[in-house]
Amino acid sequence: MEQMIDLRSDTVTRPTPAMLEAMLAAPTGDDVYAEDPTVNRLQDMLAERFGHEAGLFCPSGTMANQIAINVHVSPGDEVVCHRLSHIYNYEGGGIARNSGASVRLVQEPRGRMPAEVIRSEVNPADSHFARTALVCVEDTVNKGGGAVQPTELLKEGSEACRDMGLPFHLDGARAWNALRHTGMDWTAYGTIFDSISLCLSKGLGTPAGSVLLGSREFIAEAHRSRKVMGGGMRQVGILAAAGIHAIEPHVDRMEEDHRRASDIGSVLSQHPAIAEVDPVETNIVIARLSGGRPASDLVAAQQDAGILCSAFGPDKVRWVTHLDFNDDDLTRVLSALRDWH
Ligand SMILES: *Cc1c(COP(=O)(O)O)cnc(C)c1O
Repeated sequence: MEQMIDLRSDTVTRPTPAMLEAMLAAPTGDDVYAEDPTVNRLQDMLAERFGHEAGLFCPSGTMANQIAINVHVSPGDEVVCHRLSHIYNYEGGGIARNSGASVRLVQEPRGRMPAEVIRSEVNPADSHFARTALVCVEDTVNKGGGAVQPTELLKEGSEACRDMGLPFHLDGARAWNALRHTGMDWTAYGTIFDSISLCLSKGLGTPAGSVLLGSREFIAEAHRSRKVMGGGMRQVGILAAAGIHAIEPHVDRMEEDHRRASDIGSVLSQHPAIAEVDPVETNIVIARLSGGRPASDLVAAQQDAGILCSAFGPDKVRWVTHLDFNDDDLTRVLSALRDWH
């Protein structure tokens, strides 16, 4: 039996041999004391690239987002975010649980947050209402089929937030893919936001970790919040070294992931049993089966052909391309999809 092709998520990538060597060679120290030189290097490197003052290494993207929310809001405040967002759907209700805040959900297509919609969801300064304290946006949008936020919309959203004195946070778990797609300068992009969480564990081959970026003052508070959440780690330079090794070259090569995802999307959109495919802009493909046929039909057929993908709702299936998926694998996936009835 050939090895399974795993397209359930871009979190399944493994460290390359060169990455493992970089990890072995990394100098380390106690990161709770902020004394791990490799963690400090990664934090500084990303802060500089994205035009922020400081960075903080966190165990996961969920924790980086939750720390950001925790620092930006107080109990009883409200967070404006999208109905499709990870912070709302997939972080275990953490906004309420960790920070005591409520949410206001935006419902625009593809995870978008236009400025006029943001403005309309911000509560007036009146004691009847929760105090709106934060606006969060996601890029790329996982549940939006890997959609890239239009740059103009992000800039207008950012300006609206600045006018209203609200921080604008980016869940940039896959900001790499967005930047690879638009070709935008990382600093110009980064300075649109007051804080950013970036995942090292998505598509890059690195084993774990996320980095939160923001002002020096924000990161100092985030350091405290990370300790409270139990996310202070010690000699994690070995993980940071994997990130330093991967970021530039592995973001550069994401163009291949996007091309392969687009090929999968093309075959699916011509398939008679597929009703609809979300426009494929990056490394995520989401397709809806026609006639209310259950997602499990296609997931099972793919599995029989040696391919793992995910049911993403009752009649939707998701494939995510990544570093460990090559053109030979792509050929197998495309022929299995063409053979499925
Ligand atoms: C994966 C992901 C995260 C963080 O997830 P962790 O598994 O906690 O690292 C955050 N936001 C989005 C959009 C994601 O896809």
